[in-house]
Amino acid sequence: MKKENKINCDECKKQHACCLTGAWLDLEEAKKILELGIPKGDFFHLVKDDSYPSGYRTSTSVGNNPCVFLTRTGLCSVHKINYDLKPVHCKEFPYENGKLSPVAKYLCLAVKAKRKSGRKSVSPV
Ligand code: SF4
Ligand code: SF4
Repeated sequence: MKKENKINCDECKKQHACCLTGAWLDLEEAKKILELGIPKGDFFHLVKDDSYPSGYRTSTSVGNNPCVFLTRTGLCSVHKINYDLKPVHCKEFPYENGKLSPVAKYLCLAVKAKRKSGRKSVSPV
């Protein structure tokens, strides 16, 4: 796969587009974020999932609402305070474990644009 096909989020015109449905993260990641005391910052849907390091995952949004950490100006409040604590899925998206995420075609503007233009292939890493 050609390197130029890799999605570059720095070039994205609407970087919060992929935050509108929130993100899943490991329960232990969520606990550290809670310690930041971000107003309205909370987690939902605790689910047992052995593919996560702690064995549990939780979500940053409820219903059809955007991520609770998304600010009015379209920035991530966790990222603003401490990038290291930003959920792994958010740092990697639209990739996941080295491959394009299966939900990227719904959430990522760049992937959607490439598919629309007929260039369906984007680099897995
Ligand atoms: S935690 Fe931050 S990067 Fe992740 S979905 Fe929420 S606002 Fe977006
Ligand atoms: S994942 Fe897609 S929608 Fe989100 S910032 Fe990157 S290019 Fe933009």
